[in-house]
Amino acid sequence: MDNCIFCKIANGEIPAATLYEDEDFRVILDLNPAAKGHALILPKMHAGDLFELPDETAARALVLAKKIAVKLKEGLHADGINVIQNNGEAAGQTVFHFHVHLIPRYAGDTVNVTWKPGTLTDSDRDEILSLF
Ligand code: AMP
Ligand code: ZN
Repeated sequence: MDNCIFCKIANGEIPAATLYEDEDFRVILDLNPAAKGHALILPKMHAGDLFELPDETAARALVLAKKIAVKLKEGLHADGINVIQNNGEAAGQTVFHFHVHLIPRYAGDTVNVTWKPGTLTDSDRDEILSLF
């Protein structure tokens, strides 16, 4: 993808603070971190979102997320880590090249990745169960 910033970063055309690199992935620090250590897992191949990502790459992305999360958590003495992955504008995606966010969390921090819990209605439950 010619005009994709994460393609350019992942493939080394634009410099970024790189925590890890292999043949298929680059892991960088987010330029506008939600918390200290906020990192992004980028596949080198272009996929707009999870739905375009080959299964094998998707599987490897989560294994890599775990590996980097362990190092961040230990090294930065974080109390937790959010692993977040947005698909589509409605879901908060702003860069349309698949990526996984790793956000270290520190007790008492003000990072906001929460939602207001609703109530599962009988009709929603039945509608959704009928899809599977
Ligand atoms: P999302 O909203 O899930 O698409 O996340 C996009 C993320 O990419 C945001 O957290 C941005 O801060 C981050 N971001 C955008 N451009 C860059 C860049 N050039 N280098 C590092 N992180 C970036
Ligand atoms: Zn791309």
